Amino acid sequence: MIVARLRVLFFTVLTTAAAALTLVSAQAPAGRDTSAESVAAYALSQPMPVDPDVTVGTLPNGLRYYVRANGRPAHRAELRLVVKAGSVLEDDEQRGLAHFVEHMEFEGTRHFPGRSIVEFLSSLGLGIGPDANAATSYDDTQYTLRVPTDLPGALDRALLVLEDWAHAATFDEGAVERERAIVLSEWRMQLGAGERTQNRIRGVQLEGSRYADRPPIGTPDTIGKAHREQLTRFYRDWYRPDLMAVIVVGDVDRDATAALVRQHFSSLGRPAEAPQRPAFDVPERAGTRFAIVTDKETTSTAVAISDLRPARNQGTVGGYRDIMLDQLFEAMLDARLDELTQRENAPFLRADAQRRLFPTPRTKDEAVLQALVPNDGVARGLDALVTELQRVAQFGFTASELARAKQAMMLGYERVVTESPDRESESRADEYTRNFLQGEALPTIWQELAFHRRFVPAITLEQVNALAREWFPEQNRLVIVSAPDGTGVVLPDETQLAAVIERASAKRLDAYVDAAAGQSLMDAPPSRGTIVKTTPRPEAGIIEWTLSNGATVVLKPTTLMQDQILFRAVA
Ligand SMILES: [Zn+2]
Repeated sequence: MIVARLRVLFFTVLTTAAAALTLVSAQAPAGRDTSAESVAAYALSQPMPVDPDVTVGTLPNGLRYYVRANGRPAHRAELRLVVKAGSVLEDDEQRGLAHFVEHMEFEGTRHFPGRSIVEFLSSLGLGIGPDANAATSYDDTQYTLRVPTDLPGALDRALLVLEDWAHAATFDEGAVERERAIVLSEWRMQLGAGERTQNRIRGVQLEGSRYADRPPIGTPDTIGKAHREQLTRFYRDWYRPDLMAVIVVGDVDRDATAALVRQHFSSLGRPAEAPQRPAFDVPERAGTRFAIVTDKETTSTAVAISDLRPARNQGTVGGYRDIMLDQLFEAMLDARLDELTQRENAPFLRADAQRRLFPTPRTKDEAVLQALVPNDGVARGLDALVTELQRVAQFGFTASELARAKQAMMLGYERVVTESPDRESESRADEYTRNFLQGEALPTIWQELAFHRRFVPAITLEQVNALAREWFPEQNRLVIVSAPDGTGVVLPDETQLAAVIERASAKRLDAYVDAAAGQSLMDAPPSRGTIVKTTPRPEAGIIEWTLSNGATVVLKPTTLMQDQILFRAVA
């Protein structure tokens, strides 16, 4: 499904880019009805419909596959091997080895001995990095290949690379030594400010869970000592078809490609004595905890309230509707925080609210209320965040705020459907990866609009207002301060932060007054003018008109989109 907004956590460098969208035409009408009636029959407990243009299958050995024809970009295909195995599955002697195994995949496999994967790539004009890559995290490891589809045999060969990654890495002794040096140097390099800060916050957030002592980068000690046996044991235990998905999206024939995938991966055996893949969670904690993290390379000061909540169901109609409510709540709270930043002597430079699936473990959502503040403004910023949250909890939002948020939400979906319903292959492959790892729904953009048309008008102020307490209870709560070291500013300590929250919570507040409600941009529309001057500017491909009422109009004819004129007005 479409991720509507760009989200940035101020205290990390984590971003989830909004889906890249472009235009392509297709004829299949299935899944393209945008009326509320077309999705009226779906009960809340039912799974969301799946885009009919994607083939999703499971082989008898348990391997899942996704294949979709997608013309953006042309003559290319995006391939993924996703393994539900990451650092959280390492035993004590294997810390860092999930990542080490990932490196060994490029150092020799059955059909690509030595460095011949690199040779295969360069024969296609491709290279490691832009066209072939891999990443290891706590719960999964992902391999990506981008190959041309207009060279005979290239796709088949690329699938053979994926097949070898899935079960035929050779772990040659010499290669283990070569990669050990590289993995150790990555361990040293990863200790930048963002990573250090993130590790320390996660350390507090995940305290008491397996995740807390399994950062994917591992420990230099175990990486330095690891033998071939520890590496192959991890590979044998966890690289198996029932924990894997293969994804192909691109300028391909769907059925022929699905047949190729079945050919390559049906022979993968499921080990007879495979250990059960354990699931890990993070313990429930009452009350509020604190993480104050300074670093000499951190460049800005941020304060945040983070609550770990039970994850929304990512796959059902009811879960989809819950996320709609979350997005309305978030948009309205963001608008209030934005308004505060416009004031003189604002309590923060920027602030926002968000809720998203927590990456580790995915059993949780993380609700965050965060502010970028001046170095000496932590207490004041936190006070403002708690105060605004309290104001919503006590008085709720206004009907006019909800009406605006609903309108913006509907306009956003209508715009995507009419202007840019199609997406890049990479964005779709990301979506199928999320479906495999976290059960995210796979509706078409038209179906998403239809569900919005069905649900949004009926959402009440009461339902959205209830989210203030639902997002931020005093449970699993962490107050995070991230700041540069050595600014000479003394940061508030835990006791002082707790006192700020207590004082702000006890304040007597006034209800929010929506100054924008019922206002229009102009009291009276200007009188109609005529063109009094035309100035062509061929160097920029534009024509400028000066109107008799004083307005200037800039016209740029394009052929990008038929039957459409985009307007923008600036005063
Ligand atoms: Zn690496």
